[in-house]
Amino acid sequence: MLIKKLLPVAFAASLAFAGSAALAAGQTFVTIGTGGITGVYYPTGGAIAKIINAKKKEYGIRASVESTGGSKFNINAIDSKDLDFGIAQADTQYLAYNGKGPWEGKPVSKLRAVFALAPEAVTFVAAEDSGIKSINDVKGKTINLGDPGSGNRVNSTDIFKYAGIVPGKDFRDEKLKPADAPRVLQDGRIDGFFYTVGHPNGNIKEATAGKRKVRIVPITEVGDLLKDAPYYAMTEIPMAQYPDAVNSKDKVKTVGMLATLVTSADTPDDVVYAITKEVMTNLDDFKKLHPALAGLTKQSMLEGLTAPIHPGALKYYKEVGLVK
Ligand code: GLU
Repeated sequence: MLIKKLLPVAFAASLAFAGSAALAAGQTFVTIGTGGITGVYYPTGGAIAKIINAKKKEYGIRASVESTGGSKFNINAIDSKDLDFGIAQADTQYLAYNGKGPWEGKPVSKLRAVFALAPEAVTFVAAEDSGIKSINDVKGKTINLGDPGSGNRVNSTDIFKYAGIVPGKDFRDEKLKPADAPRVLQDGRIDGFFYTVGHPNGNIKEATAGKRKVRIVPITEVGDLLKDAPYYAMTEIPMAQYPDAVNSKDKVKTVGMLATLVTSADTPDDVVYAITKEVMTNLDDFKKLHPALAGLTKQSMLEGLTAPIHPGALKYYKEVGLVK
């Protein structure tokens, strides 16, 4: 557990023995797992930390942010008590809590939902010279499905499964971090990459602004995916945000879901309550901290939560009448 309170020395020693680390006077330290530094999770986690840290005197909570591999990594790290909070795609929240997909037979039963964040879109960026205009054009190409801890790897694996295409067999599958993918695409070492991410974001801007022309590829031929996996929904990426991409239409259709903040049932109620209350009551300031957060409302922040809502968050939602 990363949450540490000031304890007498003898207790501190036994906690250290139990795997806990440093202690500091009167403070509770919490770590929020995010994603790659060029994504939306990292600045969003930073925004949450900034809002709670501004009230350090009131709550004694000191939040810090960690850049990680993404949704899957964050959920597993919450499960193993290496992180207190994490941002995770709504689909991975569902799969982990229910023991499906990457968590088949190993449900993360202590996973708890706090609130939802910005919508994300499965974003498939491909070089124009690769000729990839649909997911069916990847055969024989080199595609980055992403970091093993990422949500985009979960999504792209799902999408190819429904399209009857086998990663690693029908195309070369790379495991690059999102921060590296735009440069490696521009260098000509990959033909395309997947990134499930909120828009606008710097990573996709970087990928579309280089010398090698790129296209955001629509993801529409997904068979029964949406029927079988109701945590996905069709969404659109507004192309005005990426004027250098070669797309001719102003919107690209693809699969999407919400990003969510998750934690463990073991995280103390007062910590989850404080974070929920401070983000919700400072929502206008919070939304200004990243353009992808612009559309958030208190109501939208209660969507996409499939794991039980943590009692600390629920206490706040009941207090303000968001939940009866
Ligand atoms: N959705 C991505 C993932 O779970 C991370 C996106 C981001 O960092 O903004 O891996």
